[in-house]
Formats: sequence, C-alpha cells, structure tokens
Amino acid sequence: MSVRVGAVLASAGVDAGLVRSMCGVDPDDRIRIVPAPRWLRLLWRGRFAAMALGGRILVRPDVLGSATLGELLVHELVHVGQWRRMGFVRFLAAYLRSYLGFRVRGLAHLEAYRRIPLEVEARETARLILDRSRHP
Ligand SMILES: [Zn+2]
Repeated sequence: MSVRVGAVLASAGVDAGLVRSMCGVDPDDRIRIVPAPRWLRLLWRGRFAAMALGGRILVRPDVLGSATLGELLVHELVHVGQWRRMGFVRFLAAYLRSYLGFRVRGLAHLEAYRRIPLEVEARETARLILDRSRHP
C-alpha cells in the first residue's frame, strides 16, 4: 500500500504549508498510510477510523477511498507531530494517564477518550487547518 499522504491532502484541498507549520510534520516525509489490521479493527469496534503509530497512519480499509480521508489524515498528522515532539513513551504515558484518569472519575469510554488533552489538541488543530485551507 503506497498511498501518499501529500497527494490525499492535495486532493482534499488541504494546505500542506499549514500542516507543516501547525503539526510540525511534512506530509511527504516518510509517512505511510496502511490499512488497519483486523485485530485493531476489532478493538475499534467501528467507533474509530484511523490511528497514528510512529511514521504510519493505520486506516480502516473502507475509509481509504472515501471523501473524508483527507480530514481524517489531518487529525492523525497532528498526532504524528505529538509523537515526534514527545517521543513514544511520553506520548503513550500521557495519553493513557489522561484516559484512565477520566475513566476512574466515572466517564464512559467515548467521553473519556474525547477529553484526552492530546485528542482535544488534535481536533482543534485539525479544525483550524481545515478552516484556513478552505478560507485562506
Ligand atoms: Zn485522535
């Protein structure tokens, strides 16, 4: 599978310069889009469509050709930038600590996930990039 991130973003009208400056990631820099394996899709239970893992973005196969792939990739590229900024161990520790903290306080799975600060940052940054790409 060799879908180029830069090409998908370009066809979705996403400004690659904004991705570089706001995610700290060059869309053409060794990032691969890979179909998510079955075991991961089972874990996602249809609720998630993609996940950044190091230099790879794992995507549910049915989303690979869809019109929303570009938007999805922008969100995941924010996560790639977070990984690079924090390193794997710190990223994972912060992510899980937040999630479990919210769960311990009684939040349901999806609400706990949505409130993870790294997720909040990814949603907000992605929204800004998409808005500014569409209304330069
Ligand atoms: Zn996310």
